[in-house]
Amino acid sequence: MSSQRGHVWLVGAGPGDPGLLTRKGARVIAECDVLVYDYLASPAIVAMAPPDCEKIYVGKKAGAHTLTQDEITALIVKLGLEGKRVVRLKGGDVFVFARGGEEAAELRAAGVPFDIVPGITSAIAAPAYAGIPITHRDHNTSFTIATGHEDPAKTMSSLDFAKLANPSQTLVFLMAMGGLAGIIAKLRENGLPGDMPVAIVREGTKPTQSTIVATLDTIVAEVERTQFAAPAIVVIGTVVNERETIRWFDTSPLFGKRVLVTRPREASRELAEQLWEAGAEPVIAPAIAIGPPDDAAPARAALRELPKYRWVAFTSQNGVDACFEMLAADGGDARRFGTTKVAAIGAKTAQRLRSFGVHADFVPASFVAEDVAAGLLERSTKGDRILAFGAQTTRDVLAETLRAAGRPVDVVAAYKTSALLDPTIAQAARETDIWTFASASAVNAFVANVPDALEFARTKTIACIGPVTAEAACSAGFSPEVVAEEFTARGLIDALERTAAR
Ligand code: SAH
Repeated sequence: MSSQRGHVWLVGAGPGDPGLLTRKGARVIAECDVLVYDYLASPAIVAMAPPDCEKIYVGKKAGAHTLTQDEITALIVKLGLEGKRVVRLKGGDVFVFARGGEEAAELRAAGVPFDIVPGITSAIAAPAYAGIPITHRDHNTSFTIATGHEDPAKTMSSLDFAKLANPSQTLVFLMAMGGLAGIIAKLRENGLPGDMPVAIVREGTKPTQSTIVATLDTIVAEVERTQFAAPAIVVIGTVVNERETIRWFDTSPLFGKRVLVTRPREASRELAEQLWEAGAEPVIAPAIAIGPPDDAAPARAALRELPKYRWVAFTSQNGVDACFEMLAADGGDARRFGTTKVAAIGAKTAQRLRSFGVHADFVPASFVAEDVAAGLLERSTKGDRILAFGAQTTRDVLAETLRAAGRPVDVVAAYKTSALLDPTIAQAARETDIWTFASASAVNAFVANVPDALEFARTKTIACIGPVTAEAACSAGFSPEVVAEEFTARGLIDALERTAAR
């Protein structure tokens, strides 16, 4: 037995969109030793667990249980008694038809301490993402969330249909696809009108969300016609009519698109989050990685002599990170900058500097080397030394322009991007609709991983973060259709949305 005291967190993962996980859920997942999850948990959330965390899949898809409920409960109790920090992750909320109550009771009986972290239930979120408000002053004063159960016979005997058949309440059924015909028949028998609207939302809040709308009398035929299957939420009530007005998620231009993200893993998070928000599914397949430069000595030496420079220019967030890592390794911090002025190429670079307590003195409006040079020339005098802190293979236009105007420039390599070789990139390329590139090196590394890319690139939309990247894509034989105007993740998504809306 370990001396560490075990603890179990019963965490609701939310309905699917990883953005709907609570902050508390995200924090405990990021710190757990063991993650026990079932089939409704989004892979993007499972991926938030630390790399050395043990991940145990326990299934629980209707009719295909990997472990029985008793075995799952026994498993988390055992892990807790072993002293592990366990997250038991469940789709939606832990107590909405999720057997969280039983698991908590068994943990208590075994003396394993636990916390409950509620999640957003699909019963409310799936309709919301379909544009259906679960309550609305014009329609209803209550709602009921009921289980349709996989076993129709059991459902029919345990639900009080006389109470459910109330036209001024919204009915939400979970797990009702198997027994749908029986449920509808009972509601009709108990007086709910045949023209009462019904919506079924499948895979709600995900890029694969789909919705059908019909009435009590026509929904069963509609399900048959469209072959609609679980996991789905059935919503019955006049609130369904609001979808005509409020529908939003599945009409966004990038909805349902699968988008390849080739930038370094550390840099892909922001783009991935914004893609989820746009209704798209990011597929993270880094083609390059950021690492230390071949020779870090010049960068370190320059940092020791910062005061001799009038300006230091950072060309990316990576450069900022590398600078502060080197400073820290040397026992230094932001005070080294002294009176040296700081230029940040791009708002994101400035933001990163601020996170280290450094306010950029100059953030050029354009990132074109000539404009940056003009700005620095205006803000310096002949003979002022300038330090450029960037990637190992930074283009030299900036340095040359500054030197030509009599400013001695030291260009030092703060980091290096290198190509990754990963067989999953080729697979991911085939399965996606849109390929995104945020640098020329990503384009080249991607092509090295997918030698036959040109053969099927015509069926894909190719999106580049700026003109330099687009030029590299063209050289590789691609025809980039989308080029961002603002060279950030946001700019890339805006450009994609504009193109998709056309
Ligand atoms: N605890 C979960 C429900 C688990 S029961 C929650 O609070 O959401 C499993 C049922 O939930 C499925 O059969 C389906 O009816 C519903 N469900 C879960 N996620 C869903 C989703 N993203 N879209 C539609 N229905 C979903």
